[in-house]
Amino acid sequence: MSICENIANIKRRIEAACKRSGREPEDIKLIAVTKTVDTDRIKEAINCGIKFLGENKVQEIMDKYPELGSSVEWHMIGHLQTNKVKYLIDKVSMIHSVDSLKLLGEIDKRFGISNKSIDVLIEINIGREKSKYGVFPENLEGFLKEAAKYKNIKIAGLMTVAPAVINPEDVRPYFVKMRELFENFKSSQINNIEFKYLSMGMTNDFEIAIEEGANIIRVGTGIFGPRNYIK
Ligand SMILES: *Cc1c(COP(=O)(O)O)cnc(C)c1O
Repeated sequence: MSICENIANIKRRIEAACKRSGREPEDIKLIAVTKTVDTDRIKEAINCGIKFLGENKVQEIMDKYPELGSSVEWHMIGHLQTNKVKYLIDKVSMIHSVDSLKLLGEIDKRFGISNKSIDVLIEINIGREKSKYGVFPENLEGFLKEAAKYKNIKIAGLMTVAPAVINPEDVRPYFVKMRELFENFKSSQINNIEFKYLSMGMTNDFEIAIEEGANIIRVGTGIFGPRNYIK
């Protein structure tokens, strides 16, 4: 299957999931996750209608940005070290993976120095997994109250990577919890907080994520095939 065929297939599945849950396909942002994917193949995806790219390493954004530039929107979706925040200014339009107040403070400081503001999502460790980054649900309120003091960021929602399961249906309870958390803080009156995006769902579980309220999904393998980490 070509990249274009894969994208068409994902779009059909997004439509079907929307139909099942009474939602509109236009309301779902499809982020093509391009980690390990070379720029030629990314261009193919862009030619087939992809508008948003997701990368999990700053270095890969730096390597690919000169060639692909601002023809697409870049999203940082992986764990971010504070000393690398500065490289993302003028490149990414959203950081999905804010998992500590220290990181949030650095983002605020760096973007502030450049007179910029940035949308961020708070990553939630919904499965309470040791192997994953993210804020625990019970700590979110305190986190958001602290975050209110940062002026150069807008907290635009939540992101999660659900636990890996054999049967995709087993992730549904996690997505339900994420939606509840999202709804809970959506109408909160905390400064700088304006929840718009719920980023959840990947190749194996994006349909369930959509059914449970995701409006950003992040799909890599489903578009580009299995990743080759050995180069
Ligand atoms: C790799 C990755 C994805 C995409 O995973 P696939 O299973 O290939 O669709 C989504 N989100 C994050 C944070 C990732 O690191």
